[in-house]
Amino acid sequence: CKIDYQAPNGLLNDRVILVTGAGDGIGRTAALTYARHGATVILLGRTIAKLEAVYDEIEAAGGPQPAIFPLNFEGASLKDYQDMADTLDKEFGRLDGILHNAGLLGRITPFEQYNPELWDQVMQVNINGPIAMTQALLPLLKSSADASVIFTSSSVGRKGRAYWGAYAVSKFATEGFVEVLADELEHLGSVRVNSLNPGATRTQMRRSAYPGEDPDTLRTPEEIMPTYLWLIGPDSRGHNGEKFDAQPPKA
Ligand code: NDP
Repeated sequence: CKIDYQAPNGLLNDRVILVTGAGDGIGRTAALTYARHGATVILLGRTIAKLEAVYDEIEAAGGPQPAIFPLNFEGASLKDYQDMADTLDKEFGRLDGILHNAGLLGRITPFEQYNPELWDQVMQVNINGPIAMTQALLPLLKSSADASVIFTSSSVGRKGRAYWGAYAVSKFATEGFVEVLADELEHLGSVRVNSLNPGATRTQMRRSAYPGEDPDTLRTPEEIMPTYLWLIGPDSRGHNGEKFDAQPPKA
């Protein structure tokens, strides 16, 4: 946990970073924060109006011109990911970071009642889609001198909990995939892959999961950004295949 990390000025200057689920919640704040630290941010998400609002905010703040990439992990095909790689290759020629942040909660419900179609949707958005996208983008990551790939996990991806169904399973798969890919890329030394658990954070997803909770008791996305900056930027170089937390566990 690097909640006390203070990012130096221009930490992400000249870096091209893709943020998925960049229209809302933690991803929105991460995109704005990365741009504020100098990154050219590629805003990926399924709701274009939300991405446009983030785009406008970055431009208004004088950040590097971002790019918008509309994509829905539920319907995207392998061709979509390949087209995306081709477009980014033409535009930037490399990728210095990916924050895999988009996520779907599904339902908190006993397994016996879990709708199998919803189960598949959650697995598609949280793990299968991001894996296919990562495969297509790997050549671009290898073209970077220092690339950091972050997969977003959860406490239920490290210890299972009743009723969390596909969401928990998808996060366990995320942790597993991070270990596999990190081990495969270790010899390169230039592409690192780690998992990051944001911890309880004040967003719409958290409200859906814990409707009775007072949001004021939770950290905001802004407050957990130090770890997001440290892990995407050069100061975390050398860390590969590790699990990080963006905030200390609640006392
Ligand atoms: P939000 O629900 O606030 O935001 C999720 C983002 O993912 C939205 O921008 C959403 O787009 C996007 N998204 C959802 N489905 C798709 C899809 N099919 N295709 C493309 N984009 C999609 O969630 P949080 O910000 O809270 O969560 C961000 C990450 O952090 C997730 O991976 C979550 O699992 C994880 N996490 C969050 C915790 C918390 O306390 N908040 C705790 C532990 C983990 P749109 O805006 O269009 O709906």
